Amino acid sequence: MSRARIAVIGGGIAGAASCIALAQCGVRPIWVAPAPTPDRDRIGETLSPAANTILANLGLAHLLTRPIHRAANTSFSAWGSDQLHERNAIVHLEGPGCVLDRAGFEHDLFSAALKCCATHIDSTVQRASLNGKNWDVTLTNGAKHSFRYAMDCTGRSSTLAITQGERHRADQLVAAHCFLNQTDTDIEPTPATLIETAKDGWWYAALLPGGRMVISYFSDPDLLPAGISRDFATWSAQVAKTRHIARWIDSAGFCLGDLPMLASAGTTWMTPVTGHNWVAVGDAAAAFDPLSSHGMTTALWMARQASHAICASQKGQTDALASYEAAVKKGVADFLVQRQKIYQQEKRFDGSVFWQRRQKNQI
Ligand SMILES: Cc1cc2nc3c(=O)[nH]c(=O)nc-3n(C[C@H](O)[C@H](O)[C@H](O)COP(=O)(O)OP(=O)(O)OC[C@H]3O[C@@H](n4cnc5c(N)ncnc54)[C@H](O)[C@@H]3O)c2cc1C
Repeated sequence: MSRARIAVIGGGIAGAASCIALAQCGVRPIWVAPAPTPDRDRIGETLSPAANTILANLGLAHLLTRPIHRAANTSFSAWGSDQLHERNAIVHLEGPGCVLDRAGFEHDLFSAALKCCATHIDSTVQRASLNGKNWDVTLTNGAKHSFRYAMDCTGRSSTLAITQGERHRADQLVAAHCFLNQTDTDIEPTPATLIETAKDGWWYAALLPGGRMVISYFSDPDLLPAGISRDFATWSAQVAKTRHIARWIDSAGFCLGDLPMLASAGTTWMTPVTGHNWVAVGDAAAAFDPLSSHGMTTALWMARQASHAICASQKGQTDALASYEAAVKKGVADFLVQRQKIYQQEKRFDGSVFWQRRQKNQI
């Protein structure tokens, strides 16, 4: 059994950014993280403009200059109206966000983090318990470790934090999503993002930098058509009901090929997000409805804030972690207000359970 002072658990954006931010404070953590699979499609590609400054502060601005990503200049939405409204990034003071090659971005971040940790363990935590002053963990590779301090960056599973606190849930939002290939390559599709509402949820489509398209239907588990992820006819019938997405798929020369995968996409958060010798970061602390398009940015922000708070508290600044706890709590509260306002803008589906649940912030 090894003993280490600070361990970062989880290999996503929060975990990698935490290793990098800790190293900036002179701390090289032990990192327990399964290596990413670069060729695996990963949903969630829109990086908000606010991430630019955070990445620059982490010394990672160069990651976005790679030609595998594209600027997020144009988006269209039919939200509260049948008509598509165009929004151009030119109106943002911070400039455009980015449509990422998500797998490529995570791979680059992972490589940068590897240089910052003392040891990388390519495994996952199977069991974790806080015994007195130490975290005792058993990994899926069978190894046992004991850590003095743990940063839980395990995404929505909050593997460590869940043993110390409670997860709250504002909704049960689920995403049925798939990636599309272009079948008519003579067409030059518009590099854009499109959002459209429906009676039982909302749709999202984006042209990805590599020339593929991702589409996603967001609804509640009890409102999804039965068998949507198992029966292609059910899925394609659902897509065909859309007013704009189906037309865009067709006119841009794409074709539905695969069944959708399902992913949890609800707004959930832990309380507390810090303890005597642990902190939760990224989705492990709070995960937001993807409508916000700021899950990745928040993960980067939390990683930096939490790492600096740990280092400050170890130097005797006793309120550093309490400030982080308060900032996360405020972020969740602000988001719940903003989320309700956005859902309230759609008034066309009178009597729809999906919209009622969100317009009243009904849990
Ligand atoms: C459908 C959908 C669309 C989205 N779209 C966007 C978008 O357009 N823009 C945006 O900014 N955000 C988006 N998000 C949110 C965004 O993907 C997340 O906020 C972000 O991935 C959070 O990063 P994370 O590192 O905290 O968690 P994750 O990305 O979930 O990473 C967790 C990591 O921990 C590892 N792990 C899990 N359990 C263990 C364990 N027990 N031991 C060790 N390692 C473990 C996992 O393998 C993974 O590497 C979307 C989310 C969904 C569901």
